[in-house]
Amino acid sequence: MERFDAIVIGGGPAGSTCAWQLRRAGLDVAVIDKRDFPRDKVCAGWVTPAVVETLRLDTDEYRAGRVLQPIRSFRTGSMAGHMVETRYDEVASYGIRRFEFDHYLLDRSGARQLTGHAVKRIERAGGLWRINDLAEAPVVVGAGGHFCPVARRLGAKVGSTESIVAAHEVEFEMTDAQRAGCAVAEETPEIFFCDDLQGYGWVFRKENVLNVGLGREDNRNIADHVRRFCDWLAARGRIPRDMPSKFKGHAYILHGRSRRISSGDGIVLAGDAIGLAYDRSGEGIRPAVESAVIAAEIIAGAGGSFDETTFAGYEGRLRARFGERGTESGLPDWIPAGLRRAVAAKLLGTGWFSRRFVLDGWFLHRRQPPLPAS
Ligand SMILES: Cc1cc2nc3c(=O)[nH]c(=O)nc-3n(C[C@H](O)[C@H](O)[C@H](O)COP(=O)(O)OP(=O)(O)OC[C@H]3O[C@@H](n4cnc5c(N)ncnc54)[C@H](O)[C@@H]3O)c2cc1C
Repeated sequence: MERFDAIVIGGGPAGSTCAWQLRRAGLDVAVIDKRDFPRDKVCAGWVTPAVVETLRLDTDEYRAGRVLQPIRSFRTGSMAGHMVETRYDEVASYGIRRFEFDHYLLDRSGARQLTGHAVKRIERAGGLWRINDLAEAPVVVGAGGHFCPVARRLGAKVGSTESIVAAHEVEFEMTDAQRAGCAVAEETPEIFFCDDLQGYGWVFRKENVLNVGLGREDNRNIADHVRRFCDWLAARGRIPRDMPSKFKGHAYILHGRSRRISSGDGIVLAGDAIGLAYDRSGEGIRPAVESAVIAAEIIAGAGGSFDETTFAGYEGRLRARFGERGTESGLPDWIPAGLRRAVAAKLLGTGWFSRRFVLDGWFLHRRQPPLPAS
């Protein structure tokens, strides 16, 4: 049993960011993750410049030996309508591979890495949190993603009554022949909204790597939706016909739907463990990183003593940053499905709507400045 100032459970973007900030504040920190790193994480892998700035990512250092794909344009539209290309004068986003990105951030955090340990026991003993008889600390950060054991400890009903997005994707390095059969440009990800607006599919090329996926709120028959989407893309020459057929799936909660409690007695959650992914885009890395920065700031300012009041202001700061949670109820049922489809296809096929709402608003959050880290 080792003693630390803080234990972070989960080494994804939320966990590594929190650990990095706590180490910078001089705390002795351990990150416990059930997987050994580098590890894969199901994700399209686009991050906005705001994330790069908050993380103070040295892009030159990062791209040495890792994929960092600059994005300067997008093709967007609905599967039933036209596609629109929107160009930016500067880099509007980046494409990363999660097994590289998460590994880099975890190593850079400077925390003690206790990887390959699935957290099964979280016990309170003498004012400390004891994890798996492996490590103990006065404060625990739950950054274990959607299925976080700390979120469960705080009462999250994982996998039962929660309203989730289910997403499937495949990521692979293309052969020369596959590259020839792929019309997607490296700097231009493609986003295709489902006709019923319950989700969207994407094709994202990062150098020689292709990432294809689809996520939906109405997640019944998700595998059928994904198969139909890929057939549709292949028929239009967007993706190679012989790409791998084995897709990986994962779930997450959109911010507007999440009812998870964000903190407790000497416990705080960050990222997907709370369910913070942006409602329209499902982008979760930025909220994961930003919530971790806020959580770390509170921990570092607590002077080593933690109780149920320590994180009293945390939920308010999350709401101030990301808006109210648990209020989103989706598109009203009284709008007829046919009308929804027609209006959506029309709007999504126009240049001004795509730039102003879909990209600048929903996907890039360009009007919200980056959160500074310490
Ligand atoms: C298909 C798909 C595509 C996506 N694409 C994007 C995208 O392009 N851009 C974007 O911003 N967001 C995207 N997201 C969302 C994004 O992946 C998540 O929001 C983000 O990973 C959240 O980070 P996190 O650190 O909170 O959790 P995670 O990245 O899930 O990390 C959690 C960590 O906790 C560990 N863990 C879990 N349980 C335990 C346990 N019991 N004990 C110990 N360790 C444990 C896991 O091994 C993992 O390393 C996508 C999601 C999906 C499903």
